[in-house]
Amino acid sequence: MREAGTKPHLAGGRLTIDLRSLQANFRALAKVAAPARVAGIVKADAYGIGIAEVVPALAAVGCDTFFVALPEEGFAVRRAAPQARIFVLNGLFGAEAAEAYAGSQLIPVINTAVDLTIWERFCGRQGAAHPCAIHVDTGMNRLGITPAEAIAFADENMLTGTVNPVLLMSHLACADRRDDPKNRRQLELFRQVRRAFGDMEASLVNSSGLLLGRDYHFGLCRPGIAVYGGSPAPGVTMRTVVTAEARVVQIRYARAGETISYGATAVLERDSIIAVAAAGYADGFPRAASGSGVPIRQLFPGGSGFVHGRRVPIVGRVTMDLTMFDVTDLGEDGIATGDHIELFGPNLPLDEAARAAGTISYELLTRIGQRYHRAYISGADTR
Ligand SMILES: *Cc1c(COP(=O)(O)O)cnc(C)c1O
Repeated sequence: MREAGTKPHLAGGRLTIDLRSLQANFRALAKVAAPARVAGIVKADAYGIGIAEVVPALAAVGCDTFFVALPEEGFAVRRAAPQARIFVLNGLFGAEAAEAYAGSQLIPVINTAVDLTIWERFCGRQGAAHPCAIHVDTGMNRLGITPAEAIAFADENMLTGTVNPVLLMSHLACADRRDDPKNRRQLELFRQVRRAFGDMEASLVNSSGLLLGRDYHFGLCRPGIAVYGGSPAPGVTMRTVVTAEARVVQIRYARAGETISYGATAVLERDSIIAVAAAGYADGFPRAASGSGVPIRQLFPGGSGFVHGRRVPIVGRVTMDLTMFDVTDLGEDGIATGDHIELFGPNLPLDEAARAAGTISYELLTRIGQRYHRAYISGADTR
């Protein structure tokens, strides 16, 4: 086990990150994808879990290609995996950035005609056709050149060889809805563009897309959230990777009719035992998970925690550093200060905790704060 962050006896919250489960998830997805390969998606500090820990753990189970959003994340991956192939999804940040990408052998994902010109000029000046990926937009309308631009580029670069395109990619907008006709439409368009690129490596899918079947896999799949334990499709569960818990710092006894937290939005219906736990929205635990007193509560149920075998509802508003839980049903001696309440983990699935806060697993993970104690559990597979 490796530890990081605040020392355990001084921390308000603790994260247990099981890298063995991360590896098991990666392997399970690699099996579904085979013979296509699977890349590690480690943008946003590996979905909040830590690039420095996640990259070696994935490399140990055969992952040799990584995707990040930003060049700084690429540098961190390069430090953790000197031999890896690293793609930067958000593109080239202007002419001055090109040098830095090439210096660390980061492969820019070319998303715009402007990026393409910059990279062509840079390669021309250097007298070297550096690798790049070509992102074609097939219907997401987020990043990517148009299919027509991509095909024109393929024909022209075939003759000039100015740059070295190594991957053609696109991204599905509705992969989490299996039967959405948009999936098929994007697939057809992607196939059409791909023909212009010969047998170059291609990549279309994220976690949910990987489950749409063989047709969608091409040479390389890009699952992120499923590797980190988020559910990629309804009814599909992955192994839990992250457990987040908050330390109980006070137990209070309050009478029926009293109110809890800011705005006095929670009025107790019975005499209650309240556990005050040391994690709040400054730790990335969403204020929208509040038991009452936030607008989102009209649409979603309040969040809860889990402790000593029971779900315990959040009462009142989540505050910056503290969250209150109704632990009355645990009884007088059922909980003590120093105990920890699970915010999400094996007993409270990430996706469910996210839904209760009106958000998605991705946001809950990537917003995890910096004040936690972190324990990384690794098996024989890592280092
Ligand atoms: C984030 C991202 C992925 C991974 O998506 P998940 O839904 O987490 O599997 C794949 N491809 C691109 C382009 C992305 O931005």
